[in-house]
Amino acid sequence: MLSANKIIICGGTHGNELTGVYLAKKHGWFLANPAAAEKCRRYIDCDLNRCFAMSNLNSKTEGLENIRAKVINAMLGQKGTEDAPDFILDLHNTTANMGITLILSHMDSDILNICTHIAKEFTDVHIYLQEEERTESPYIGTVAKTDVCIEAGPQAHGTLDAELFFKVERVAFRFLELIEAWKNGSLPKTSGKIETFSEIRNVDYPRDSGGNIAAMVHPALQGKDFCELSAGMPVFLGFDGKEILWEGETCYPTFINEAAYYEKKIAMSLAKRDYLTV
Ligand SMILES: [Zn+2]
Repeated sequence: MLSANKIIICGGTHGNELTGVYLAKKHGWFLANPAAAEKCRRYIDCDLNRCFAMSNLNSKTEGLENIRAKVINAMLGQKGTEDAPDFILDLHNTTANMGITLILSHMDSDILNICTHIAKEFTDVHIYLQEEERTESPYIGTVAKTDVCIEAGPQAHGTLDAELFFKVERVAFRFLELIEAWKNGSLPKTSGKIETFSEIRNVDYPRDSGGNIAAMVHPALQGKDFCELSAGMPVFLGFDGKEILWEGETCYPTFINEAAYYEKKIAMSLAKRDYLTV
């Protein structure tokens, strides 16, 4: 249940995702990784958005981001306690063609209702469920009692796209209005069915025996985030020009060819589509 007294809008958790960095600077929102933003890098020592598991926050760890995570946790009010923020909206960019993707780390009917309003009011919005065991989830949003992560794309890291900048700004302010309306009991109920996507698993690139990437995302799949992928459709194209066809279940790929995920050995994530009654 959303209590919504302490709300944090956060940008620059990844220092080269510039929509959030510059919105945080413009509006005085929380800039999560100023050192990485200064250098326009995703991170300095390790990915800050993988540092917020309770066991990590409570253990002796080194490196700029691990230390920063502990500072953020103390500043915001301590994950897992009453003093934790009620809600964090964390702003990210992706190089994938994901429009405005609202990622929910747990199913909360109030948050789903608010996201449904956003999805109806703006174009190219997707609701994405990536349910996490909150205590050990490494994401910054899980410091709060509830959170939404916005992935906005496609945008190359280290660059700005004016249209996307103003769209994310409008979405963030609309979130604040809708949370305020919810607090006052004046949030209109949505009705009907809403399309949602739930993450199933990640898929790596095909690799050779030395562990090197052996194929690229197929041009027919590039930019087709949230489109149906079924058996027989091309997914990768080898350096030798040979097509690799999908043999798995019917699904909806996301984060296709995300630049930051090459190091994580993720070529795309797979999701299933549902229609939830709200
Ligand atoms: Zn990010």
